Amino acid sequence: MNLSNAGFTIGATAPKSFVRDGRAQIAFAGRSNVGKSSVINCLLNRKNFARVGSAPGKTSQINYFLIDRQLYLVDLPGYGYAKVSKAERERWGRLMEAYFASGLITQGVQIVDARHSPTADDRTMMRWFRDTGCPVTVVANKLDKLKKSEIEPSLQRIRQVLELEERTAIIPFSAQNRVGVEALRQALFGQSGVHS
Ligand code: GDP
Repeated sequence: MNLSNAGFTIGATAPKSFVRDGRAQIAFAGRSNVGKSSVINCLLNRKNFARVGSAPGKTSQINYFLIDRQLYLVDLPGYGYAKVSKAERERWGRLMEAYFASGLITQGVQIVDARHSPTADDRTMMRWFRDTGCPVTVVANKLDKLKKSEIEPSLQRIRQVLELEERTAIIPFSAQNRVGVEALRQALFGQSGVHS
């Protein structure tokens, strides 16, 4: 698959705009500021594809990126930003609920912060992914902020708190240092000769 052949398709703010063209949809979820945009940019080898550092919590929008005309990377709106209004939070909830219930997700990527125990919201997202029945990969981002000795215990804690099944992989990742990029490409796109 040619990851360079990637383009923004649509930002959906309501279920009527969800893409329903039969292509696979790999959904990326994560708390605001966890580095979701940075991870997507790393994966696609781009600098400013998904917007890094955009106003947190201001974008209750599901962004679709078509990759090599084959599948979509779906950037779900970040969550957990304290200063979001109640109305906005509810809008987020309705949109996400509809998308997770749509049956459109074929694969999930849950991004968490390698330094911290996953939040209650992270656990909720993980449960939503689990309920879809699709395979999920957990990305533990900002690995560069950990000492070497802290990495393994931290990954164990993430596995425990998210109650991951054995088959669910956690990929230690640093978008800053481009650590884990190949492992994530393998997990998502398999052996199909990915080049970027
Ligand atoms: P998003 O809100 O989840 O899309 O997060 P962004 O991609 O906008 O990143 C939020 C902030 O975290 C930015 O300042 C990034 O530069 C920083 N960031 C993202 N990934 C990493 C990483 O792996 N290590 C470090 N140290 N910082 C990161």
